[in-house]
Amino acid sequence: AAALYIVPTPIGNLNDISQRALETLQQVDLIACEDTRHTAKLLSHYQISTPTWALHDHNEQYKAEQLVTRLLAGHRIALVSDAGTPLISDPGYHLVNRCRNAGVRVFALPGPCAAVTALSAAGLATDRFAFEGFLPAKDKARHDKLELLKEEPRTLVFYESPRRLLDTVAELVSVMGPERQLVVARELTKTFESIHSLPAAEMLAWLKEDDNRHRGEIVLMVAGHQPDGESLPAAALRTLALLRAELP
Ligand code: SAM
Repeated sequence: AAALYIVPTPIGNLNDISQRALETLQQVDLIACEDTRHTAKLLSHYQISTPTWALHDHNEQYKAEQLVTRLLAGHRIALVSDAGTPLISDPGYHLVNRCRNAGVRVFALPGPCAAVTALSAAGLATDRFAFEGFLPAKDKARHDKLELLKEEPRTLVFYESPRRLLDTVAELVSVMGPERQLVVARELTKTFESIHSLPAAEMLAWLKEDDNRHRGEIVLMVAGHQPDGESLPAAALRTLALLRAELP
């Protein structure tokens, strides 16, 4: 029966694909891809010959409409992105949204996602976290965003480009302070995988020591803000000071 399958693909190690993902890619009528050449490599590795079709981001709305028409005609379609889970900082939102509105069934297969993989090995609190995707590229916009997030109590998870990591960490030192714990997870599941945890100022120095430490694909995580005495409202602090003065 007609259905859209959201199929996560490996974020590095080609073995990280589920049996069900492979069967789905084999059985559907069409695979909608972010980049057909990129997906062709995965498909040829697993000897899957299902036709592919590009779902480009800039015309995703129009392409989504065409796919919904095919789905309504009874086709089974899989959606993949270049790596990891579709829709997570990747295309697919318009397609899934339209499918839901048109009454087309959507099945999501669980699988690799860089954010969750990084978080599960970071050693930061995971009971609550905020996925922020990519920070804005422009300095001012990035600064403003970090200002908004500086008192966020949940662990923050960002995708970051290797070109911008140093600038972002420097900005984190100034906005969130030198002591804020950061974790940089790089090249997860690949040969040069590394996960490094340091207070912000030390992280900046460590990254500057060696260019290899900020190459490749990166997930940047920031410990949530821990409220302390100093962040109490001024009125509460004054009352506390008065009480302390009165105590024996
Ligand atoms: N949809 C993908 C997912 O589920 O993780 C994310 C796509 S987003 C366009 C690509 C970004 O994810 C990279 O710039 C990097 O920040 C992060 N990423 C992807 N693969 C990674 C890996 N193997 N190690 C670390 N970060 C990775």
